[in-house]
Amino acid sequence: MTTAVAPSSSLSALDRCDRCGAQAYLRVELQSGGELLFCAHHAREHGEKLKEIAASVTDETHRLNGTDPAPEAAN
Ligand SMILES: [Zn+2]
Repeated sequence: MTTAVAPSSSLSALDRCDRCGAQAYLRVELQSGGELLFCAHHAREHGEKLKEIAASVTDETHRLNGTDPAPEAAN
């Protein structure tokens, strides 16, 4: 047994949004075994839907508090 750092414990600058290629702040592990990465923008856009099909979600969008360049649009 090794004690390697769990790869799903955090996101890095190397993790990129599957939609737009920006730095990812949300990792979604699907119940089907796949994995998706989203930037803060797409995490907000797809997050609620993704959480319905996700086995687990790593949400680090809070790291962007105060620095999100996109103003909240009315839904
Ligand atoms: Zn994105």
